[in-house]
Amino acid sequence: MSGAVPAKYQSASEIVDLVTNREISAVEVLERYLNQIEEHEEDVHAFNLVTINEARAAAKETDKLIVQGEKLGPLAGVPVAIKDNLCTKGIPTTASSKILEGWKPPYDATVVKKLKEAGATIVGKTNLDEFAMGSSTENSAFGPTRNPHDLSCVPGGSSGGSAAAVAAGFAPIAIGSDTGGSIRQPAALCGVVGVKPTYGGVSRYGLLAFASSLDQVGPFATSVRDAAIVHEVIGGYDPLDSTSIKQAPNSFVQIIDEGVNKLKVGIISELMGGIDGITHEVIEQTNKAVSALSNAGAQVEEVSLPAALYCLSAYYLIAPAEASSNLSRYDGVRYGLRVDGANLKEMNVNTRTEGFGDEVKRRIMLGTYALSAGYYDAYYGKALKVRRLLAENFADLYKDYDVLLSPTSPCTAFKLGAKVNDPMTMYVNDVCTIPSNLVGHPAISIPFGSGKDGMPIGVQILAPPMKEPVMYQVARTLEQASQ
Ligand code: GLN
Repeated sequence: MSGAVPAKYQSASEIVDLVTNREISAVEVLERYLNQIEEHEEDVHAFNLVTINEARAAAKETDKLIVQGEKLGPLAGVPVAIKDNLCTKGIPTTASSKILEGWKPPYDATVVKKLKEAGATIVGKTNLDEFAMGSSTENSAFGPTRNPHDLSCVPGGSSGGSAAAVAAGFAPIAIGSDTGGSIRQPAALCGVVGVKPTYGGVSRYGLLAFASSLDQVGPFATSVRDAAIVHEVIGGYDPLDSTSIKQAPNSFVQIIDEGVNKLKVGIISELMGGIDGITHEVIEQTNKAVSALSNAGAQVEEVSLPAALYCLSAYYLIAPAEASSNLSRYDGVRYGLRVDGANLKEMNVNTRTEGFGDEVKRRIMLGTYALSAGYYDAYYGKALKVRRLLAENFADLYKDYDVLLSPTSPCTAFKLGAKVNDPMTMYVNDVCTIPSNLVGHPAISIPFGSGKDGMPIGVQILAPPMKEPVMYQVARTLEQASQ
C-alpha cells in the first residue's frame, strides 16, 4: 500500500452523538485515533508532537463530566489536531522553526481555549512549512509531511500536517491557518474539507503572526457539516484580537441542507484557463462541479475577475512585507533559540542566521526590499492598489452573484522534492486561493473527484464577507453530488 488513508471516516458529529449517549467513552474514541497514529505516523509525519498524556487526561475529564450528568459541549470527546503555529499553554509551539526551540507559550490561543471548552480532546501539534511560508510542508525544520494518499507526494502546505492528520484518520478535525491558501490548498491535495473564514471571524489571538492583514484560522474536516460545526465553535468576537468582528456570523449549520435552487453562481474565468499553469484535469473536474450545481437548480454563469491576474504578484509583496516586520521579534532575547556572539548585534545576527530556514530568510529579504525607501511606492504601494482593485472587482460581482467558484489548487499533489528548488513554481500553487485572502472573504475547498494519478482534486467556493452560511450551503450540495 502506498498510502495511509483509512477505509472509512467517522464524522465529528457521529462521535459527539455516541459519546453523549454513552455508547462509547471519550477515552475509547481517543485510543482508536492514537492506534491509527501509532500505525502510520512514522510514514506520514503529520505531527511535530503528539500530546498523548494531555489528551488522555482531557478525554478522561470528558468522561467524568458524562458520568456526573453535566451538560456537554458541541465537540465532546472529539480529537482535534492543532497546527503548530497556534499557542498551547505549556506545550512547545515551534512554527516548525529552529528559532523557537524550547519555547513554551504561557497561554492558549483563543481557538484552542474555545475547542477545549467545547469538549474537544487536543491530540497534538501538526507540522507546517516554517512560519506557514510554503505550499508543500517541505519547508519545515523537522522534515516534510507526506500525503496519506500517496506517501511519495506532498500534502500541500503550509498546513500540510493538519490536512494529512485528517486524511490519515489521525483526528477527525484539525485546525490550520490560511494566509494565502494554507488551509484550502492542502485540503484539496489531501482530499478533505478546508475552510478559510471571513477575516476577523475567527480570533487570531495566539496565532504566531505571518502576515497579519491576511492570516485567518480555520478548520479541516472530513465533511462540510463537521467543518461548519467547528467553525461555529472557534468563531465569534474576541476582544483580544483587535481585528475581530463584533457581529461575526456564528450559525452556519442551520441552512446547510437547503440546496442551491435559484442561487446564482459565478465561475471565475481567469481561474478556469485564463491564467497559465492550471492543469487541464483540474479544470475538467471543476466543470463537472459546475454541472452538478446547475443540475441541482443553481444558475451558473462565467464571470470575469480581472484583478485575479495580479493577485499572486501583489501577495508575494504584501505577505513578505508584513512578515519582515512580524518576524523581527525573534531576536534571541525574547523567545526560544539564542546563539551567542561578541555583542548584542552579533548574537542577534547569529541567532537569526542559524534559527531561520532559507524560505523564511527569502521572505524577510523580499519584504524588507519591498518596504525600503525608494522602492516602497513601486512595490508595496502598487501591491496595495491591486488589493483595492480586487476588492472593487469582487464587490461588482457580488451585486449579481451569491457565490463564486474556481479550482482550489492548480494541480494535484506533486512529488516530494519536485518544486523545492524553484520558488516561483512553488508560489504558483496559490494562484486560486490568494484572492480571498487579499480581500478578507471566506472560501472553502471541497473534495471533488480525482486526477489521472488517482490523487484528490478540490473545488473552491468563494463567498462575500460574513456570508459563510450560503458558502456552506453550496459546498454541501457539491459534497452530495460528489458522493
Ligand atoms: N503558500 C503561501 C505562502 O507561502 C500561503 C501560505 C499560507 O497561507 N500560510 O505564502
